[in-house]
Amino acid sequence: MRRDRWTAIAWLGVLAFCVGLRVHLGSNGSSELVAQLPYMAVSIGTPFVIVYGTIRHRPPHRAGWFVLAAAQVFYAIADGVSVADEWLSGEFLEPTPADLLYFTYYLLISAAVLVFIRRRTPGWDLPSGIDALVVAISAGLLSWIYILEPLTADSELPLNAKLTQSAYPVLDLMLLILAVRLVMGQGTRGAVLYLLLSSLTLMLGVDTAYLATSIADGTSVTVVYLDAVWMVSLGLLGSAALHPAIRHFDQRSDTALPDASPARLGVLSIAVLMAPGVQLIQWLRGDPVSVPLISGACAVMFLLVLARMSGLVSAQRKAAVTDGLTGLRTRRYFSEVLAVECRRAARTGHGVGLLMIDVDHFKRINDGYGHPAGDRVLREVAHRLNAGNRAGSVVARYGGEEFVVLAPHTGPEELFALAERLRSEVGGLPVDLGGDLLAVTVSVGAATLSRPQPDALLNAADEALYAAKAAGRNRSVLAAPQHLAGKVA
Ligand code: GH3
Ligand code: MG
Ligand code: MG
Repeated sequence: MRRDRWTAIAWLGVLAFCVGLRVHLGSNGSSELVAQLPYMAVSIGTPFVIVYGTIRHRPPHRAGWFVLAAAQVFYAIADGVSVADEWLSGEFLEPTPADLLYFTYYLLISAAVLVFIRRRTPGWDLPSGIDALVVAISAGLLSWIYILEPLTADSELPLNAKLTQSAYPVLDLMLLILAVRLVMGQGTRGAVLYLLLSSLTLMLGVDTAYLATSIADGTSVTVVYLDAVWMVSLGLLGSAALHPAIRHFDQRSDTALPDASPARLGVLSIAVLMAPGVQLIQWLRGDPVSVPLISGACAVMFLLVLARMSGLVSAQRKAAVTDGLTGLRTRRYFSEVLAVECRRAARTGHGVGLLMIDVDHFKRINDGYGHPAGDRVLREVAHRLNAGNRAGSVVARYGGEEFVVLAPHTGPEELFALAERLRSEVGGLPVDLGGDLLAVTVSVGAATLSRPQPDALLNAADEALYAAKAAGRNRSVLAAPQHLAGKVA
């Protein structure tokens, strides 16, 4: 731990020294080549620091970090080539070799972020993807109006130069989408995530500032300070890899669903208000208003928000009707379907069958093997009930260790046969509790009524279940239509 702390302090010390030197050399009239040396030192040092941190801390999955280091190698070479280019004032046709190296860097760093996203989230986490897209459209709109359009408006530039220059904001945007997706998705929060995001944010911010200043004055006079920020961004990236928490950084999160935290809602609100805001500013300043562009962006964002909303509603609905422990239907869903089936039976005169199933002596299982083992038994019982159920019937968890099966269009014989099948499906094989084999049995109360009321049917099944328990458990009892215990197995 001490060694890690000292390594991080040394890296930050080198960074601070190089940043100071870069600013000093940049403002005291040193030659451009000399002034760039501290910048190059940080640029070349970063991939080494990332590889060192990865090897030292041994995160379970190293691929993402090695791709990140490879990206930084390309970045350092690109920096070197562009410094040499300026020094030799080489006249390359755009895209220059440095441009191609920077493009490779973008692809690699995006790949690294993508690897992190995939590792941290189970599945694709579509909601976070949609959120990231909303932010990206908003940023893309700003980038188009304030960067890309002015960049391409200079009619004297040849097409290849325009395309090369436009590629940078587009690649920045791609990286922004991935960075936003990384932070909006699930996974561990903490130092590594925040260092990585600060690094990417600074990088994207300073890239944009560089493009904006070169648009504003034709040259980039403030390059010294922009360089300093680029260096800090590299320093933060190195620090992320040096942090011992990279061991847990790409740990897979248990849940795929994002929360509705105030931060997320805040970011999304700013993103969706950006388009109308920009339009208002353009109008107030008397600038030409990009109506088709802004309307298009608003329309796409509306549709994305709608898609997100319908996703949320269906996720809520699914959560309300699915039992968390067993994956069966919930009591709430069962009650809804029971009411519908009873109404239908009242019209058609068909019978509706109901089974109420209770695990025998379940308290003993909990007491003898512990609550988690009890839960395992409940999951296994649910699985077996589902496997033995017939098509068209609904199996639900009614409460604790009670289950219900709703069997529409079912007469007494058929219902009793289903009860017995489910009972032997559950009791037929012992449940394996990690070595301990446990015999688990259930008692079943069955009731079928034509033109039933939900409560009457539930009471009848409940009384039959009570009769099954009273008669010694591990059996099915069919209630007579008058609620009298009838057929006993
Ligand atoms: P009987 O044969 O008469 O049904 O005896 P029993 O021991 O099964 O009695 P009862 O049906 O009253 O037992 C219910 C127990 O189920 C009590 C409660 O602690 C346990 N239980 C309820 N919900 C859960 C759960 O989600 N997980 C676990 N492990 N236990 C639960
Ligand atoms: Mg019980
Ligand atoms: Mg019970």
